[in-house]
Amino acid sequence: MVTGAGSGIGRACATALAAAGAHVHVVDVDAAAAGSVAEAIGGRAHVVDLARAAAVGELPAGIDILVNNAGLQHVAPLAEFPPDRFELIQRVMVHAPFLLLRRILPHMYARGWGRVVNISSVHGLRASAFKAGYVTAKHALEGLSKVTAVEGAPHGVTSNCVSPGYVRTPLVERQIEAQAAAHGIDADRVVSEVLLSRSAVKRLIEPEEVAAAVLWLCGPHTGYLTGASIPLDGGWTAA
Ligand code: NAD
Repeated sequence: MVTGAGSGIGRACATALAAAGAHVHVVDVDAAAAGSVAEAIGGRAHVVDLARAAAVGELPAGIDILVNNAGLQHVAPLAEFPPDRFELIQRVMVHAPFLLLRRILPHMYARGWGRVVNISSVHGLRASAFKAGYVTAKHALEGLSKVTAVEGAPHGVTSNCVSPGYVRTPLVERQIEAQAAAHGIDADRVVSEVLLSRSAVKRLIEPEEVAAAVLWLCGPHTGYLTGASIPLDGGWTAA
């Protein structure tokens, strides 16, 4: 199961997992996007809004691989950050993964095998200005992933975070516009001076590069790797 699989990183993960032989449950609030990805990869679409706690009960529980990926961004100074956006971000990016784990872990435990991959972010490890909701949620997801790793280990379940820097997806394209407004500079300068300022590798990462790491975490050689966070951040956190 890949949440937010209708676009960007989620779509790349769903595509890579399907190519490796998985039957993929494509979960997204966007019906057209979920349908077209599911059709392209021979998976099954589930159109749900993960901001609604009850939505999780509409999803299947018999899942072997869970990729918690659905997410959204809002860029504003802390003192002006809209409380409803802050809460929505926590609901989709923290509460929904918690509810999904609660629902799916019993199946993984019964099988004695499971893989949980949480799409965190460099913002699960570092802060940036104007991203209070997102940075808070990603740090929480890193913690949830570690608890899942500790509890899941005796049952053959691993849980890890993949924590990318800026990935070339619609979410980042929208952010470039929002950051341009927040910083009062044009879009090209946002990419070079804001997005990539702390990355040693001066390019955006592609969704397929993130999906390759996710696929590896679900493969046969990573049973001892759990509770970790893999920073696909072009050296951001190394500096
Ligand atoms: P995206 O906007 O391209 O895709 C996100 C998908 O999540 C969309 O299909 C959207 O419809 C879905 N979604 C959003 N809210 C939902 C909800 N309430 N219920 C169900 N589905 C919902 O974004 P992306 O860049 O592919 O981001 C995917 C994940 O990767 C997010 O968690 C994001 O925080 C994380 N991430 C992105 C970047 C980046 O630079 N793009 C970097 C690090 C981490």
